[in-house]
Parts: sequence; C-alpha cells; structure tokens
Amino acid sequence: MTTPLATYLPQLRDAVASSSRVVLLLDFDGTLAPLVQRPELAALPQPTRAALTALQSSPRVTLAFISGRALADLRSRVGLNAIYAGNHGLEIEGPGLDFHGVDLIQSTEVLRAVSAKLAEKLHAIPGAQVEDKQSSLSVHYRNVDPSLAPRVKQITQSVTASYTNFVVLHEGKLVIEVRPRVDWHKGKAAEWILQQIASPAPLIIAMGDDRTDEDIFRSVPDSISIKVGEGPTSARFRVGDPGEVGRVLELIREAVSCRATV
Ligand SMILES: [Mg+2]
Repeated sequence: MTTPLATYLPQLRDAVASSSRVVLLLDFDGTLAPLVQRPELAALPQPTRAALTALQSSPRVTLAFISGRALADLRSRVGLNAIYAGNHGLEIEGPGLDFHGVDLIQSTEVLRAVSAKLAEKLHAIPGAQVEDKQSSLSVHYRNVDPSLAPRVKQITQSVTASYTNFVVLHEGKLVIEVRPRVDWHKGKAAEWILQQIASPAPLIIAMGDDRTDEDIFRSVPDSISIKVGEGPTSARFRVGDPGEVGRVLELIREAVSCRATV
C-alpha cells in the first residue's frame, strides 16, 4: 500500500530530526532531474541543488546517487562530495569507497560489439540513440516516432539474441538497457553501500522513479522508500514529480539543521 508522502511529512521531519545518521539513496533522471528529450541535457533544478549542497555539508548526512548513467557522467552532473553508483551500481565510488568488483571483462568486450551493431541497425530509425556507457548500453527511443518504437525493441532484441549468455535486456522509461548478465542491480549496490557506511544504524530514505529503483525499495525494506510519479511500486510513499522531490529534500535539510541547533 503506497501512501502520498504529503500525509507523512510531519513524521518524516521528526524522523530526520531525531536521527543521528541519515542516508539518502537517490536516483538521478526522473527523480532529481526532470526527464528531458535528450539525456545529455538533464540537470539538477536549482532548488534541488541548493538543498543537496546544504545536506552534503552535514556530518550526519550521507548522500548516495545510484543511477543507470555511467559513473563519470553522473558525478559530473551532480558535482557534490558524495557516493556515486553508476551503471546501475556496477561501479561505485565515494569517500573511502571503490567498487568495480563484478567481473565484467568478457561482457565489456561483448558490449562493444553489440554497441557497434546496434548503432548500425538503428541508424535508419530517426531519433533512436545508442548510448555506450562502457559497462552497459542504453538504447533511447524517447525521440522516436511512437509507431517505430516496437521496431527499436525488435532490432535490439535481434542484435542481442546471439549474446544472451553475456548480456540481458531491461526495459526502462523509453529506454532499453543492455546490461552484463551478472547477478547485480541497484538494490544490491544499495545494500553494499549501506554495509560500508552503516554504523550506527542510519535512517535511510530512498527515492526513485523507474522499474530499476524497485530493486532498491525491495532490498532496503526498512527505508523510507519514495516512488516518484505514476506506476506500480513497492515503495511506501509516493510523490508526483522531481519538483516535489526538491521540496522534500528542502524539508529534510531543514530537519537536519534544526537538530544541529538543539
Ligand atoms: Mg530514474
């Protein structure tokens, strides 16, 4: 049962104010940054950046950004002192943290081959975009005429069909992810991050908008989990859009600084 977060804001404020340690597990696209036509143009809205910048400076707060983007891309868009998990958690870096532990060498070679073939086959479909993120690929079709979207999926499936020992497809919002076939996802990345830092037991707040974020909500069941936007979810709470996420972050910031002055 998912509750609108608005009805829980006073409790959220109290929970944050009374916690000695708060960990935020945050997706980027569609959660912090509004979805845009071209992924390379996505950016943090100013109020969200201001709240995150203030939170970063609190010793009680740990920020972890967990995204499907490549780690370097994610870090450059956020630009804060934080933990970054890129490629759905296949690469994690942060103060004292460095995880590139999943054996990807063979999959990485396969991904280069798949990337080249996809680029070639999708060339004929206007707006289709293959983004090579080194440890995974994204086939974007948000700029493709909707009538051609099934064709993009069909081509992606047929190109990857002979590599299914190495790669697996995941559907996101107007994107198909081609990922190494490894037993790893955002939820396992979140668990790994928490194991590295969780002492004392923190208050965990997780926010995400897409199917891949459900792995986080399920892997960290004790968290205050917040789904952004419509759609089925196992999160406990829901907000409407990234603008509302910015306001929630501002409320968290206030609650954190409120405690600091007690
Ligand atoms: Mg997202």
